[in-house]
Amino acid sequence: MKKAKKIYGLIGRAVDYSYSPLIHNTAFDILGLDSHYTIFNVASHELIQDALFGARALGMGGFSVTIPYKKTVVPFLDELSPEAAAIKAVNTIVIENGRLTGHNTDIAGFAAPLQQHAESIRGRKIAIFGCGGAALAAIEAFRRFFAPEEILLFVRDTRKARTLLEESGHHKTAPVTIALLDDPERVRECRVVVNATPIGTSGRDDGGYQSVIPLDGNLILPGQIVYDMVYNPPATPLLRAAACSGAIAVPGIEMLIGQAERAFRLWTGMQMPVDAVRKVLKGEIQPTT
Ligand code: NAP
Repeated sequence: MKKAKKIYGLIGRAVDYSYSPLIHNTAFDILGLDSHYTIFNVASHELIQDALFGARALGMGGFSVTIPYKKTVVPFLDELSPEAAAIKAVNTIVIENGRLTGHNTDIAGFAAPLQQHAESIRGRKIAIFGCGGAALAAIEAFRRFFAPEEILLFVRDTRKARTLLEESGHHKTAPVTIALLDDPERVRECRVVVNATPIGTSGRDDGGYQSVIPLDGNLILPGQIVYDMVYNPPATPLLRAAACSGAIAVPGIEMLIGQAERAFRLWTGMQMPVDAVRKVLKGEIQPTT
């Protein structure tokens, strides 16, 4: 008789098109694990407590958590990892012996493709565009792993950004300067430039903008590292422009795999077969806009 499968899932809203089931089920299949990953669209914040307590009762293995629930889940967990506690946001939950532990693998997953450039980033300036959950994870990653001199945070609403930085504690722990999106000249001073907004995502209408960073102002310099968190399409207009300028282009698919790889290890104790997963994922994501 076959053993019952261990169930994992993604908690989010309107996330039917997520690539996480493909990533984790490919890894489960390759490793021959009796596990399955699926999607749970939870309709409202009020239902999160029931969802988590139900999962504990059902003996599920764990969850990924995405927009808009990364902060919502926090009060219902038994424990937080230091990374999750630092930014009060959880993207991975491990359920073990009836205990729910929250982790944040976005931080190390974001940092992974930058580690090979670590020496050249230390003590330099960084530009991050956007101030949502992904930007906060990036700030924490730079603070933890790369000790930059200054992080310029380019946003359209400075008041909102200040509040988010205060809530996350980054106003005290990281060298962040808030800057206005429509005055991006200082990007030229930066070793790494990060897009942490959804601009550039396939199928979105952003009022004609293809990139949050103007591509006609010679802002991107040869040798700079340009990191686009958007992973669909794999080659965003920003990454294409970066490559044309002689910059080093880091695609969002690397963060997507990096955070998933760490979640997979937390759930299974096993190394995800990353190269095989990357191949399957690249075959699935449309190569053009
Ligand atoms: P979020 O919490 O909704 O934050 C989005 C940020 O982008 C906000 O600061 C928002 O500004 C800004 N923004 C949105 N539309 C904009 C526009 N038209 N002009 C200027 N700024 C705009 O989302 P998130 O979780 O941080 O995710 C951001 C992006 O990163 C998404 O595309 C997501 O798919 C991607 N991401 C990728 C990975 C990966 O593994 N590669 C992981 C996490 C996230 P306001 O606050 O002013 O609205």
